[in-house]
Amino acid sequence: MVILPILHRLGWMQWEELSFDWLLVCVYGVFAVILTYAICWPLEALMPVEPFQGRKALLTDAIYTVLARVGVLPITSFLVFYDVQVWVNRFAVQRGYIPPTLETLVPSLLGHPLLTFALYALILDCSDYWRHRLSHSFRCWYALHALHHAQREMSFWSDDRNHLLDDLIAGLWFGVVALLIGIPPLQFPVLLLLMRFVESLSHANIRLSFGRIGDWLVVSPSFHRTHHGLPAAGRTSCNYGAVFPIWDIVFGTADFRVTFPPTGDRRAPEAIATGRYLEQQWGGLMHFSAEWRRARMSKSQRSRPAP
Ligand SMILES: [Zn+2]
Ligand SMILES: [Zn+2]
Repeated sequence: MVILPILHRLGWMQWEELSFDWLLVCVYGVFAVILTYAICWPLEALMPVEPFQGRKALLTDAIYTVLARVGVLPITSFLVFYDVQVWVNRFAVQRGYIPPTLETLVPSLLGHPLLTFALYALILDCSDYWRHRLSHSFRCWYALHALHHAQREMSFWSDDRNHLLDDLIAGLWFGVVALLIGIPPLQFPVLLLLMRFVESLSHANIRLSFGRIGDWLVVSPSFHRTHHGLPAAGRTSCNYGAVFPIWDIVFGTADFRVTFPPTGDRRAPEAIATGRYLEQQWGGLMHFSAEWRRARMSKSQRSRPAP
């Protein structure tokens, strides 16, 4: 509404379509952040697990959220995903192959859009469970994911606190699965909006579990805090699920104890725990390259013949 007359005045109407897309994308992202803030902030004020000590750390996490939700996430889920899906479908059709959707794979889902939508969410969440679990299984990958775990004061802003490389892997992982199961382009951003809201809430500094049954259905702040909790060994190995705990139950990694432990990663470099945004990104890259070199050295030592 504001942009179009300006473009017209400047004679830049060829940008009209593009500017509309961008506007839509920004509105989507801003809406997601405002909704998350409006629900999570009062809850954090009402029943915090711990009082916040460092406003700087909170502010840095907020920068991650705004960058991810107003910029990267809507752009990739609305624009890039749409273009890639159109291109992949055209490529497949030209070669005589009709890409499947969940409804064509399971015809009984036809006419049940809500059920199909929920199934898409469950499948995406299952793939995310494995991405997350694998990121804890490989030391090099965990070196990137450590940026997420290094936060000692979790809040609803902490969900997007990730290394850019880790975000890139997650985006590609999610996008490929979404393409494989044929999520309709406009459903994808809506699904992400809902899933990311649950993920923000699960990181919030709230003394809240959803009860015996609720905790089995949706990931609660208590459930995800246990994943972030400081164990004696230094790394956690439970509660990888982002939205539905069902995958932790099925694959034997669920821990439903309601304990609200202190969080963080004792082995993470200080730069990624308390640095500013760029310091964290750089520190994460250094941490990753140190782990990479260490892994290569131990591999070459193993392959060297014994004297
Ligand atoms: Zn993790
Ligand atoms: Zn987390």
